[in-house]
Amino acid sequence: DPRLQAISAAIRVVPHFPKPGIMFNDITTLLLRPKVFKDVVEIFVDRYRDMGISAVAGIEARGFIFGPSIALGIGAKFIPLRKPKKLPGEVISEAYVLEYGTDCLEMHVGAVHPGERVLVIDDLVATGGTLCAAIRLLGPMQIEWKACLCTCRVPSLELQNQVNLCQYSAVRSLQ
Ligand code: 5GP
Repeated sequence: DPRLQAISAAIRVVPHFPKPGIMFNDITTLLLRPKVFKDVVEIFVDRYRDMGISAVAGIEARGFIFGPSIALGIGAKFIPLRKPKKLPGEVISEAYVLEYGTDCLEMHVGAVHPGERVLVIDDLVATGGTLCAAIRLLGPMQIEWKACLCTCRVPSLELQNQVNLCQYSAVRSLQ
């Protein structure tokens, strides 16, 4: 796909952010280029339309940038998976381990129903810990089918098993 090269080139790599030794993939430079931003959304809309997906779940915060446009493109609702204590209603929570410490994702009770097909969106997978937490959050809801996707991924890091079990796709593979 000729669009992938432009998408890859539009993501800025910032060394030593947010701490020494980390190569940070900055997608804000991609957002400054509307044609490329549109290509990202269209690639995923084309891939997932007509698959009976009724909900797109976006992971805070960068899943909120891509998720809603993809949801509208495929005619699905959008569900924000938020960091702790942001959602006002009753929530279900799933904790996950970060490099240093832990974090948590929350979803409103009733946002998704058993049997729905849900697409999970984030911008990037590194260890897969965040994506796995989203999958565990949705798991007890007996959701019929789910996929995980990102605009880019870091293949050098081993994805956790739960992610590999899901249908997973990425627009871009990073070094
Ligand atoms: P993981 O849980 O897979 O180790 O890390 C992925 C999560 O951290 C995603 O929510 C992603 O937004 C964020 N993240 C980690 N590294 C990067 C990076 O280099 N660039 C961006 N944009 N997000 C990152």
